[in-house]
Amino acid sequence: MSAYLPVYCSSCAHASLTPISEQKSELRCSFCEATARVIPGPVYGDGDWLAFAEIDKALAEADLTGTQAGELVDVLQVLLDRGELPQVVVQTMIERLPALANVRPALVNRLPRGLRMLATLLSARTRDASGHLLASHMS
Ligand SMILES: [Zn+2]
Repeated sequence: MSAYLPVYCSSCAHASLTPISEQKSELRCSFCEATARVIPGPVYGDGDWLAFAEIDKALAEADLTGTQAGELVDVLQVLLDRGELPQVVVQTMIERLPALANVRPALVNRLPRGLRMLATLLSARTRDASGHLLASHMS
């Protein structure tokens, strides 16, 4: 099975998965070919593509500001730290961001994996103003 790193492109505000095996010195966004950066977080597998893309699309369409994304990450983190049931966490996040209702199947996919994707994709959007992470940390 291949492994993929999540990368985020601040030019078009999309995240995508890049195969680790390609070992490119510079990561490119698969949407617009701009330089992308690795999002800190778990590595993904072949079965994660669809859910990852769907959650990313919902967040892109919601057009969150960095501040909004940061608040949502905080809400999600508190719920997970409290040990809430994943279904409760999913429901709460949909209430906070109704656009997520469209991707509920992706969020509940192999819980808590869908929620970790959501956390990764939200945290990518909180970092627009900060420096780029070097692709070299993927080795
Ligand atoms: Zn892009």
